[in-house]
Amino acid sequence: MRKLLLGVLGALAAVLLGALVLRVPAVETWLLRRAADRIVGREAPHLAGPDELSVLLCGTGTPLPDRHRAGPCALVAAGDRLFVVDVGIGSVRNLMRWRIPLQRVAGVLLTHFHSDHIGELGELRLQTWVAGRREPLPVFGPPGVERVVNGFEEAYALDTQYRVAHHGSDFVPPAAAPLNAVAVAIPEGAATAPVPSDRGLTITAIRVHHPPATPAYGYRFDYAGRSVVISGDTTADEDLAAAAKGADVLVHEGLAPEMVAIVGEALAAHGQARGAKIMHDIPGYHTPPVEAARIANEAGVKRLVFTHMLPMLPNRLAERLFLHGVREVRSRGVELGHDGLLIRLRGHGDGIEERTLHD
Ligand SMILES: [Zn+2]
Ligand SMILES: [Zn+2]
Repeated sequence: MRKLLLGVLGALAAVLLGALVLRVPAVETWLLRRAADRIVGREAPHLAGPDELSVLLCGTGTPLPDRHRAGPCALVAAGDRLFVVDVGIGSVRNLMRWRIPLQRVAGVLLTHFHSDHIGELGELRLQTWVAGRREPLPVFGPPGVERVVNGFEEAYALDTQYRVAHHGSDFVPPAAAPLNAVAVAIPEGAATAPVPSDRGLTITAIRVHHPPATPAYGYRFDYAGRSVVISGDTTADEDLAAAAKGADVLVHEGLAPEMVAIVGEALAAHGQARGAKIMHDIPGYHTPPVEAARIANEAGVKRLVFTHMLPMLPNRLAERLFLHGVREVRSRGVELGHDGLLIRLRGHGDGIEERTLHD
């Protein structure tokens, strides 16, 4: 008994001594140095080798507030060049937390101008510039992209001035700061148009169907014999299926109508008429998961990855319900995307490698 008491007192004394030592300024400084060293010293993730294409999901959410999913965003790496397709709220934070070398972003592609797809365009402009981007950043998109870009330019004009005055124009050259809008028009009667690109990379804009956000585009990337297609927001679209022919990966949006109807009924039952009205309106311009699976089959893609999933999928049950009926249409090569999912396609092969990036 006495031994036990002595043991407990000894342990207490050790804890107290430890707590006191941790408050010694020199020890605090040492701990801080160690923490800073560990945090700053972590390496940037490998995205794609010189002959590889990869896609990183930097946001798989929607306008709904989901703590685990940023707004829509996909980062495509073709060798050492990075392209960002859509820049939803939280997506730039994700890229920064995963240590993506933002100075290497060579272009932004907007699928359409709904707020959830453009929310952090200003932040991407700023953070790529502060990270060391030395040229204006091209922003490709449907006609109308000029208005969006001009708006962000104006909104960030004072911030740009402050940063230059504070850090110096050698560090943050004012000429490199701006976004440069490049409208890509798809001719009447055509379903696709090339997006300017070079060095073995082909980017194709694909007209999709998301009225009244018209025109709205998906994008296809072809590099080193591999290919990735991002649907953007759309209903089930035959032009997309045709343009995605034979692609390795199709990142496609999805809305489960039965689930959205249930959420709408719950909102109505709680007197939240505005939310209920929105749930009633949105199925008309998105794609049911079963239809997305059909499009993926028609295109003959190797893998279908869902993004922009509606409604929110907070648990396994919701995920299962979202995929209800999909396995019957497409038994293999389907998955739900998540923020941080990195899909790597080695050049001129047919393997698909996946891993998840963490903070
Ligand atoms: Zn939209
Ligand atoms: Zn959207």
